[in-house]
Amino acid sequence: MKSTQLILLICVLALFNLTACTQTKKNMNYNQLTPEEKAVIINKGTERPFVGEYVDNKANGTYICRQCNAPLYRSEDKFDSHCGWPSFDDEISGSVNRTIDADGRRTEITCKKCGAHLGHVFLGEGFTKKDTRYCVNSISMKFIPATPKGIEKAYFASGCFWGTEYHFMKAKGVVKTTVGYMGGNTTNPSYKDVCTGQTGHAETTEVEFDNSKTNYEEMVKLFFETHDFTQVGGQGPDIGNQYRSMIFYTSAEQKLIAEKYIEILTKKGYKVATKLEKAPVFWKAEDYHQEYYDKKHGSPYCHIYRKIF
Ligand SMILES: [Zn+2]
Repeated sequence: MKSTQLILLICVLALFNLTACTQTKKNMNYNQLTPEEKAVIINKGTERPFVGEYVDNKANGTYICRQCNAPLYRSEDKFDSHCGWPSFDDEISGSVNRTIDADGRRTEITCKKCGAHLGHVFLGEGFTKKDTRYCVNSISMKFIPATPKGIEKAYFASGCFWGTEYHFMKAKGVVKTTVGYMGGNTTNPSYKDVCTGQTGHAETTEVEFDNSKTNYEEMVKLFFETHDFTQVGGQGPDIGNQYRSMIFYTSAEQKLIAEKYIEILTKKGYKVATKLEKAPVFWKAEDYHQEYYDKKHGSPYCHIYRKIF
């Protein structure tokens, strides 16, 4: 083989390798699809009418992309078109791409974030005031039910729990806060146990808020705006696993919102160290830790509010 041919071959192989790596990286965070899901989402098939999971779903919530979890449609925009597939007259702003089909007759809709095939959009049928029908395959989406109105619980760990609680107990719509331990492997731990660093528990604040007066998004924003969420394995001068930055979510909706804000911060250039975990048992801490700064008339040493959002 001539040397020029050899160089060309090496270049082609290198390029192929690079493309393969990029592809893997791009898809790394996507959900695994079943063959039935792939037939629609990747190969642009259509599920049979009137059999999809969400055709008659009237519950309140958000429809997200089955492949990448991007929010696509809201239940408020869903209507009954009797066509056999879930129908919406609006999308969540900027979440859906429109492309004219190869035959030039219909307009395909895909997830803007990952390209998943969703279905087609039709205009001018007169179903609703918006005169638009997004005809979406149920299998392309996953439904996240909204939390019922009332008192909702949230759990945040952001270093010393005295400082975390200090900000949440003053926030609008919060009715109660309690400090404790979460995410470890021992039952009913004491502060002394947690300080050994052997329990795996994080100092956590349980926040109970009235979601008709505020919402989980406000709680998540306050969490990120009152600690250094880029610090790994500690907070300020407090070093150790018990001071790590964590959001313990109690519902799929909370998880979705927490992921959204981590994505927003990542796009702003922050390297977010906060980890998400489904909320396990919350163990209340000793009484002297509760509302510590209010009892002592003090203020936190490393939880300072700064506006980000
Ligand atoms: Zn997607």
